[in-house]
Amino acid sequence: MSLSSTRPHFPAHRRPCGWQALLSPAADRPALHGDQTADVVIVGAGYTGVAVAQTYHALAPQSRIVMLDAETAGEGSPGRNSGFMLEIALAGDASTGELERMSALNALSRRAMASLKSQVDANGIDCQLQRTGTYRAARGAEGRASLSRYREFLAAAGLEFQALDRRGLASALGTDYYAEGLYSPDCYLVQPAALIRGLVSTLPQGVELYERSPVVGLSRDGDAWRVVTPEGTVRARRVVLANNAFSRSLGADRSRLTAIYTYAALTPPLTPEISAAVGGAPWGLLPTHRLGCTLRTTADSRLMIRAQYSYERERNNDEVAADLAASLVARYPSLDGIGFDKVWGGTTGLTHNGAPLWGEIEDGLFVSAGCNGGGIVKGTALGDALARQMLGHPLADIPALFGKPSWMPPEPIRRLGFEAIRRVEQRKGRDEA
Ligand SMILES: Cc1cc2nc3c(=O)[nH]c(=O)nc-3n(C[C@H](O)[C@H](O)[C@H](O)COP(=O)(O)OP(=O)(O)OC[C@H]3O[C@@H](n4cnc5c(N)ncnc54)[C@H](O)[C@@H]3O)c2cc1C
Repeated sequence: MSLSSTRPHFPAHRRPCGWQALLSPAADRPALHGDQTADVVIVGAGYTGVAVAQTYHALAPQSRIVMLDAETAGEGSPGRNSGFMLEIALAGDASTGELERMSALNALSRRAMASLKSQVDANGIDCQLQRTGTYRAARGAEGRASLSRYREFLAAAGLEFQALDRRGLASALGTDYYAEGLYSPDCYLVQPAALIRGLVSTLPQGVELYERSPVVGLSRDGDAWRVVTPEGTVRARRVVLANNAFSRSLGADRSRLTAIYTYAALTPPLTPEISAAVGGAPWGLLPTHRLGCTLRTTADSRLMIRAQYSYERERNNDEVAADLAASLVARYPSLDGIGFDKVWGGTTGLTHNGAPLWGEIEDGLFVSAGCNGGGIVKGTALGDALARQMLGHPLADIPALFGKPSWMPPEPIRRLGFEAIRRVEQRKGRDEA
């Protein structure tokens, strides 16, 4: 049986990754050539794949683990995000009715976060990791209602936070755009391209990573799997699909997972005066509505903005840049005309109810995908848990904790549904855009 399909096998980004462009060039890694065998093949060297590899190696050090990535470390999806590493469950998931489950999720997040932090420290990974905490702020009624639910959740869970009014936010962030907000300390900021580069370059010996090696076919080969890239194959009894939404082209359940593109831009470095006016110390702000903007400062005094979504395909980046600039200037009128140094898009794997696609889907074929935009920490937690499960040392009942991803209708109904939801949400969340 072959599990290949005509769906895109891997992301093809329109523009280079802005974070990667700020770093010195990375060392070249080889692509896969020829026919090989391994105990495990991991498809995708993102946060999920790296965590699977590390834990699998720690528990089964004799295993030959081969990782295959379509892109290069830092340039691909894992380097394209906004760099928020949340120690606790996302605001959208927060519910006072499910405190016990949320607390267990928070414990898992904190564990994954601590593991990432200790790897950064132990290996001296220079990725500007800093526990800045995070702001959440709202301007309109919809955002304020969501903020209020989140505040209730934090209070009920006994988690630390500080409520802020317009003045408090303005003095911290240099904008009076938002009506109210809160600050919570449970978040780190990182330079994501530097982080993923550091993580893959410190993978243990025994884990072999091949880059520019997209998996374009997967089929049964007796009691094993045959993994096919353009210039090579690997035969292995076990295969892990850690390539997020693109796992669908290799057999992951396409009725439960979809690819959403979102976009980010970096201003040029701000002058010391402007930098001081936008808050000086490093900070990050997450939206209270799903169509809102993420904002943060960077170590070299830039502002980064992330917003906009598109379904399954990347939008024209010039149009995206204009939308991002409008959102930035609405918050910081003095930045009118500053322009962006970098604009780029990236993909996330989305499930309808936020639960990940996780576990064994066929004999020897595993998947962990669908981090719904919070994958640095969540992907690390789920990848670690998957490797433990594969080797008979389960960490937790992941489907019970995270839930199971809900079914989505096939195309073209799914696309129409997505567009309809987006139109409604755009209206509701227009103040936060
Ligand atoms: C603009 C933007 C901002 C975001 N902000 C945040 C944030 O602040 N915090 C956060 O936690 N998350 C954020 N996210 C989401 C986050 O990037 C993802 O959740 C996270 O990267 C998922 O990790 P992963 O390892 O599961 O998958 P990915 O990071 O997508 O990694 C999958 C890997 O698989 C590779 N791949 C794909 N197909 C194939 C194939 N066929 N063969 C071989 N390799 C393949 C890809 O090249 C990639 O390296 C953001 C995403 C975007 C786009």
